[in-house]
Amino acid sequence: MIKTRFAPSPTGMMHIGGVRTALYAYLVARKGNGTFDLRIEDTDRNRFVPEAQKDIEANLKWLGLNFDGEIIVQSERKELYQKYAQELIEKDVAYRQEGAIWFKMPKEGQVKSIDLIGEREVAFNLAEQKDFVLLKSDGFPTYHLAHVVDDHLMETNPVIRGDEWLSSLPKHILTFKALGFDVPQYAHLPLILGTDRAKLSKRHGAKGVSEFRKDGYLPEAILNYMALLGWTPPDDKEILSLEEMIALFDLKDVHSTPAVFDITKLEWMNGEYIRQMSSEELTKRLQEFLVDHPNKDRIAPVVPLIKDRIKKLSDFIPLTDFIWEKPEYDIEVFKKLKIQNHQEILEKILEKMETMKKPWKTEVFEKTFRDLSDEMQVKTGNMFQLIRVAVSGQTVTPPLFESIQILGEEETLKRIKESVEFLQAV
Ligand code: GLU
Repeated sequence: MIKTRFAPSPTGMMHIGGVRTALYAYLVARKGNGTFDLRIEDTDRNRFVPEAQKDIEANLKWLGLNFDGEIIVQSERKELYQKYAQELIEKDVAYRQEGAIWFKMPKEGQVKSIDLIGEREVAFNLAEQKDFVLLKSDGFPTYHLAHVVDDHLMETNPVIRGDEWLSSLPKHILTFKALGFDVPQYAHLPLILGTDRAKLSKRHGAKGVSEFRKDGYLPEAILNYMALLGWTPPDDKEILSLEEMIALFDLKDVHSTPAVFDITKLEWMNGEYIRQMSSEELTKRLQEFLVDHPNKDRIAPVVPLIKDRIKKLSDFIPLTDFIWEKPEYDIEVFKKLKIQNHQEILEKILEKMETMKKPWKTEVFEKTFRDLSDEMQVKTGNMFQLIRVAVSGQTVTPPLFESIQILGEEETLKRIKESVEFLQAV
């Protein structure tokens, strides 16, 4: 029976790196028709952050990594660890000193394990090991004791955790044995580094999961990207749904060398997911994302125009603001255009627009301004760019004519007039 768990320490908000640990444990459980549990390792009271557990739960839910049983909270099980520590004293493998209970490490021999990652053998010489604390003077267990007790009682197998725990493995194996418990199989996941190969940090854009969520990343893109940090699916397939990952994932295919987190790659992948979504689905996602946006009920016609232009849901806002709000003109933006006599040209454009039959048709619109640009001896592209700035105040927008259709003829005319007035005044 496969039983895995995610066992974060609530010392801060859930970090993006933790997504991979949770995901791999989830994939192994689902693939093996086993269970996936959540255990909160809150025994380090100095580093305990009260809001962290809620953040972990909310992010797992958002990511769709649903856990099975009740949440196990270690601080609620103090007596249990105390009982096992006492048992180890009675067996004479532990002793009490300065308030704490210590495990007595044997001084010779070797401890070995086959790590599931790469099926590599790891061996430790006991001569290099020291006695270690099982139970602290505040009555709380250390990770070493709590991990062994809980993973035994929860029947965890395999134990999937970060590589930083590998050096503590001999402590854990010997504690399992001393308590007469079976030793589970272990998988120590490779480190995640930044693009400069330094330890992953904020500097590399690696923030809390909630921050990625606020930035407009999609949960499925985050899962997909994090899955590939250390794992190459068969066929090198790059875009995978959670279902596909469950079918293909195998711990033995996870690399034992460090993986590199690249925020630009994650952003690219997020954009791929956005492009592959139907406009209806993207509209729904945007509406959920833009909860406080006053015009969120009016975005549907805009969505197909921007689908190929955004990488994150948040990119929607700067790209479409001009549709809901009057542009704030900036002379510097006009100066960037490869065109002179802005005002004069815009007055001509306005004249043409006022005489164009409504509703404006794309072919007529294009022909009118193509002809006008010939007549005024400016490049057609530059003239359209001028119209874009007059209508939106910015040089980058969704396709011009479609944007104008959303604005409507009246609003467009009004904006062109206002841009002329603005240019007169500067
Ligand atoms: N609380 C440990 C951590 O966050 C968990 C290690 C484990 O999964 O056993 O690193």
